[in-house]
Amino acid sequence: MTKPVIFCDFDGTITNSDNIIAVMKKYAPPEWEAIKDDILGQNVSIQEGVGRLFSLLPSSSKDTIIHYLTESAVIRDGFKEFVAFTKKNDVTLYIVSGGIDFFVYPLLNGLVEPEQIYCNGSDFSGETIKILWPHSCDDGCQNGCGCCKPSLIRRLASPGDYNIVIGDSITDLQAAKLADHVIARDFLLEKCQQLDLPHTSFTTFYDVIDVVSKQLEVKQP
Ligand SMILES: [Mg+2]
Ligand SMILES: [Zn+2]
Repeated sequence: MTKPVIFCDFDGTITNSDNIIAVMKKYAPPEWEAIKDDILGQNVSIQEGVGRLFSLLPSSSKDTIIHYLTESAVIRDGFKEFVAFTKKNDVTLYIVSGGIDFFVYPLLNGLVEPEQIYCNGSDFSGETIKILWPHSCDDGCQNGCGCCKPSLIRRLASPGDYNIVIGDSITDLQAAKLADHVIARDFLLEKCQQLDLPHTSFTTFYDVIDVVSKQLEVKQP
């Protein structure tokens, strides 16, 4: 019996907005804008750009940042129920995030087990924050993703799995191309439409529960 394996993005998908952008807007010196534009313009890889962004922040700001995000970040409606749904139906759920461990884990605390979470790491031993890359691109990807979602799918998925990717942005696109089904919003939704990838749109995680329920019915005659 094939069961879905779900690869779910974090920023802009589980949370309503992007946490790295929120942190930079609040705490980074103005230079951060040029780095962001270089990332969006694909002049630098995400890995290089995100590394540079956090190097603008002193390591001593760690607790302030965590506090700010746990106070301000909003988890999308239905996420808690969605996690319960995956447990009840024995569906494997992985969180694959280009976010950084020191805020991703606290924001998902009590919602998702740490073993299900794949994101970037951090080192606060120097003057400024250094980002670590435990899940960087494998030989099949040359994009400098930082946290490489296609590489994680290749590593975590087994032959015959029904892979579902949930996401919102350009950073989910290569993973979406490897998926059997995509559940998308915002930019990723437009891309799925343009490229004719099998997909459904979502606004809340109640929508996601509906989609995956239907997949389970199809998968389990
Ligand atoms: Mg995202
Ligand atoms: Zn990659």
